[in-house]
Amino acid sequence: MKILLLNLPVHTPTVMPYSLTMMKSVLKASINEDISALDLNAKYHHHFFNDLYKRLEEKEDYFSLLNEFMKKTRNHYPQISKSAITGEKPEGHDFLMNKILESKPDVVAISIVYNSQAFFAKGIIDNLTKNGIKVVIGGPAYLEKIKTNAIKLDNYSQLISYLVENGADEKKEMDEVILDFNDYNKNHYFTKDIIYPIRTSSSCPYKKCAFCTHHGNIKYEEYDLSYLKKTIQKNNIKKICFIDDDLTNPRLEKISNILMNLEVKWWCQLRPLPQIMKILPKLKKSGLHSVAWGIESGNQRILDYMKKGTNTDDIKKVITKSSELGIKNTVYIMFGFLSETESEFIDTIKFLEENSNYIDLISPAVFGLQDGSPAYSSPNEYGIKNIHLEKRTLLGDKIEYDISKGLDQKQASKLKKKYNGTMYKINKVPKIINSCKEQILNYDSLNI
Ligand code: SF4
Repeated sequence: MKILLLNLPVHTPTVMPYSLTMMKSVLKASINEDISALDLNAKYHHHFFNDLYKRLEEKEDYFSLLNEFMKKTRNHYPQISKSAITGEKPEGHDFLMNKILESKPDVVAISIVYNSQAFFAKGIIDNLTKNGIKVVIGGPAYLEKIKTNAIKLDNYSQLISYLVENGADEKKEMDEVILDFNDYNKNHYFTKDIIYPIRTSSSCPYKKCAFCTHHGNIKYEEYDLSYLKKTIQKNNIKKICFIDDDLTNPRLEKISNILMNLEVKWWCQLRPLPQIMKILPKLKKSGLHSVAWGIESGNQRILDYMKKGTNTDDIKKVITKSSELGIKNTVYIMFGFLSETESEFIDTIKFLEENSNYIDLISPAVFGLQDGSPAYSSPNEYGIKNIHLEKRTLLGDKIEYDISKGLDQKQASKLKKKYNGTMYKINKVPKIINSCKEQILNYDSLNI
């Protein structure tokens, strides 16, 4: 049986797809069949934006090129969604279909991680099923409206059962799972050095932040770390972005023990808790290059209200220590959280200015209510009224709501725009890195 795993366009192709790679590794460990992974998103961009890839090969400045690449792709993507919504074939559909059919698959498994993949998914699934190819689909993005004849599966064990029911040869004992990125063509990624995405846990160990849905409300589970060293060695990895939602101190210590002496540079996302300060020197020694800190606000009432579990004094100490060690600090900021006043908004700007020496990049966002977040589940607690859904053709419905006090989304966005210049001045690395945060690992300076 020939099983083809697909990552569909469109999303920014700076890193190889983690979900697809993990799916392939779990299947390889579980069944004796011909399994391969195809990153159509990377192939699509390499084909349609080839001039920029050529200039990248000719060693033009990477971050200027990335800026140009992002502008061009942002102008290009709306045509794809427009075609998909009006029922036409988006540009590139035939190119993608040919790539799939070249591999002569019996079964195609599609992993949908980004909502933007919905626009190609529908046409491709319809076409594959017309060609008599079995299609299964899964992943964290919204799927209901793109499901056609594809079978929706929720996890790897359902996928393995499906394949075995359809004739796959199941191994008596599952082999060890080691990530294998070798199916992908490195030249198809719009990056300087290849940065590998690795997860060491599912969900978040904290899960309390009132705005957050990243963790998908699933159980927090730590993966066995023995696969980390083998994955690094098998793929000759030099740069890693850990895509875990958050990492606890004991996990960070274990990871740094593994990475020590492997000469790997790494990036991760953390909550700025004071206890991390005592292990930061060790993490730095093991190759920690940069951290994206979930700071969110410089106002204590807002931090408490969003249940971030942090305080501004500790945050200041953590980013100061991190910066003094030579670790690059990206700071996630969320403006306009429920009930935030203009003066509380400005507290955050002041916090950023006062700590500007220790901040390399500000990643600002404006709060929007998301289904599955604690605020969505307890609207009264957060002064949210009249939640209603605005229908969209292929994507999930858009959530609209009213608030009883504080800045609304429009007011917060307007204020953010007013202070963009102030924030840009604080940035010490190109702000385009906010579009693909792991790329800070490719920003070299004498401090690193
Ligand atoms: S914002 Fe980060 S720390 Fe907070 S719940 Fe979400 S993933 Fe966890």
